[in-house]
Amino acid sequence: MGKIGKHIAIYGKGGIGKSTTTSNISAALAEAGYRVIQIGCDPKSDSTNTLRGNSYLPTVLDSMREGKKVHLSDVSATGFGGVLCIESGGPVPGVGCAGRGINAAVNLLQDLNLFEEYKPDYVLYDVLGDVVCGGFAVPIRDGITDRAYVVSSSDFMAIYAANNLFKAINKYAPSGGAKLGGIIANGLTAGYSQAIVDDFTSRTGTKAVGYVPRSLVVSQSELFGKTVIEANPTSGHADIYRELAKYIAESEDLVVPNPLGVSELRDWAREWGDRIYDTETGVVQESLGI
Ligand code: ADP
Ligand code: MG
Repeated sequence: MGKIGKHIAIYGKGGIGKSTTTSNISAALAEAGYRVIQIGCDPKSDSTNTLRGNSYLPTVLDSMREGKKVHLSDVSATGFGGVLCIESGGPVPGVGCAGRGINAAVNLLQDLNLFEEYKPDYVLYDVLGDVVCGGFAVPIRDGITDRAYVVSSSDFMAIYAANNLFKAINKYAPSGGAKLGGIIANGLTAGYSQAIVDDFTSRTGTKAVGYVPRSLVVSQSELFGKTVIEANPTSGHADIYRELAKYIAESEDLVVPNPLGVSELRDWAREWGDRIYDTETGVVQESLGI
């Protein structure tokens, strides 16, 4: 496929803040004057809602299922700052395979010459990453993107999902798959959580490329059906997203991570189970060995 623009995949477990983060990055890049496409590759199909006042888009898969010829204008809409929004969609509940659906949707967009027509500077793929099965790995596996980031909090299940993505990258990078840009730490509430994420990145040969604290500004912007960049452009959080967007736009620091094995990950998590965090000094004391 023609590499028009930088193609970036953003993975993470369901509900961790992928769409919120991706949409704010898209909005920040659009605000900086770039042409941006955001493709939601989550069967939930709500990736781009805050770029378009909380409205749903007809999905690529729904349109394909109608059996008529699909035009780009049927499945795309312009959102904040001119971001072109697309949702791959999902299978009919109880039937079909979400991963295979992503593949079909991405192929169709290529056949419709989306990138040649729109000439984007950046294309962001918002991909569900609880399980990186063959289908969900399509954006990093088949040369569609050359870089992936993963949104994670310090919760074990979020880190577990990040580690799964590392495994998939590790498998496919040698044959032309995407590399890892790093972790976007989202929803952190305390220094202890940041210390957990930092320890995980250092164990796996990666790094955190941004820290987005949990904030009411994010929740309230979402209630307005907007990104933080649009609803609260002068807030500290808007600047956090702008800085993150700038980093992701410019960075070429990509690695093949070293995922932890199943029991290694469990043992690592256990080490953190009884560590003591001093909220005043920010010092994490070593495990008490309980
Ligand atoms: P995903 O796309 O990974 O399923 P979403 O982006 O839809 O997750 O986020 C899930 C919920 O968490 C949303 O209601 C969103 O507003 C909220 N959220 C995400 N990041 C933050 C944050 N940093 N602070 C507060 N709320 C957040
Ligand atoms: Mg989402």
